[in-house]
Amino acid sequence: MATAREYLNEVYEKVEKRGPHQREFLQAVKEVFDTIEPALEKNPQYMKWNILERLVEPERIITFRVPWVDRDGRIQVNKGFRVQFNSALGPYKGGLRFHPSVTESILKFLGFEQTFKNSLTGLPIGGGKGGSDFNPKGKTDVEIMNFCQSFMTELQKYIGPLEDIPAGDIGVGGREIGYLYGQYKRLNGSQSGVITGKPVAMNGSLGRTEATGYGLVYYTQEMLQANGKSFAGQKVVVSGSGNVAIYAIEKVHEFGGTVIACSDSDGYIYDETGIDVALLKDVKENQRERLTAYAEQKESAAYHEGSVWNLAVPYDIALPCATQNEIDEEQAKQLVENHVYCVSEGANMPSTIEAIEVYQANNIYYGPAKAANAGGVATSALEMAQNAQHGHWTFEQVDEQLQEIMKNIFATVETTAKEYGMDGNYLAGVNIASFVKVADAMIFQGIV
Ligand code: GLU
Repeated sequence: MATAREYLNEVYEKVEKRGPHQREFLQAVKEVFDTIEPALEKNPQYMKWNILERLVEPERIITFRVPWVDRDGRIQVNKGFRVQFNSALGPYKGGLRFHPSVTESILKFLGFEQTFKNSLTGLPIGGGKGGSDFNPKGKTDVEIMNFCQSFMTELQKYIGPLEDIPAGDIGVGGREIGYLYGQYKRLNGSQSGVITGKPVAMNGSLGRTEATGYGLVYYTQEMLQANGKSFAGQKVVVSGSGNVAIYAIEKVHEFGGTVIACSDSDGYIYDETGIDVALLKDVKENQRERLTAYAEQKESAAYHEGSVWNLAVPYDIALPCATQNEIDEEQAKQLVENHVYCVSEGANMPSTIEAIEVYQANNIYYGPAKAANAGGVATSALEMAQNAQHGHWTFEQVDEQLQEIMKNIFATVETTAKEYGMDGNYLAGVNIASFVKVADAMIFQGIV
């Protein structure tokens, strides 16, 4: 019988052979495989049941054509996808991403990570992800609606409140979810539980918009407190300026920290006095403008082009909330030089494998995305619960549950790391705890 390491290598080679060009997916698989060897040694039945090879193959990938008409009457065509990755723990659950960088590899990495993330929430949800290479930037409202209606006309065949429940991700916010659900309803009747992240007026959940950013800060605060620290008095850099970043900044300020910079895809704003969240919300959500507009409206802020992770000033905590692979090895080394002692991830897979190695080598407290940003999808599951009972919870009721969930996730991560003899190795804790739960559920269900 092969050793755990041999089995891991063997399965990884197969994944590589099947999709040698799926770089992001291979990276996500490698990161998990690098840390779960002790779980396989402790549970040899995972090898006997060939759990890994089954786990890395999505249950189903649906791809479709999305034709739509632009403002000049021209017919445009985009690619649409839904990756139904793993349903061992419940119906497929995960967001839709509209961004020109979307490929099958990106959605497979996101669906794979989502499976583990959803497992950590402790709620009955499997993993899925979908989206399109459609670029919402610069499009009119009507163009966005045309696209969403065409996308849903195809997607609706494959989803349902008990089968697969999409939500938002990059490029898909309340406006897009509104159009997507409107089209679903037109074709299938009213079933609000089929999609989450809905506007509150459409049976959405209070607190869902804030949940990923707030949850990130709740999780990070738990990790800091376990090490005798907290956000109070700390200088923080947050990348991104979308939904996750905005509410992470808001919560850091509430916890007594100061966010001195945030970014968009072209550059970043640096404001030693602390980012003005009200102005940031206005610029991004109402004006739908770039961060240059923020700098023009705030005297203490300066706008710089390039990555915020090249910033060379001392600060304490980094919260990457933009996109995958935004921090590479060199930038991780810059963080160490800046005396950053904690990195916690609001975006999915924002650190390259080499960057994570730098964090580990320098004993940085590390909050991997699968745990740290699980508050969004967890609150989506709370939205599903409200929809199923035709009810509404208050903001406080939702926020209280979110805090409880993030606390429990950190406790599970910490205990698991200890149980496997890797005290304080939160990366191993995250990957092992989430993997074991999915693997056990797969064994119970036989070879399916
Ligand atoms: N797209 C978010 C994530 O990466 C949320 C998914 C959801 O709410 O279903 O977890």
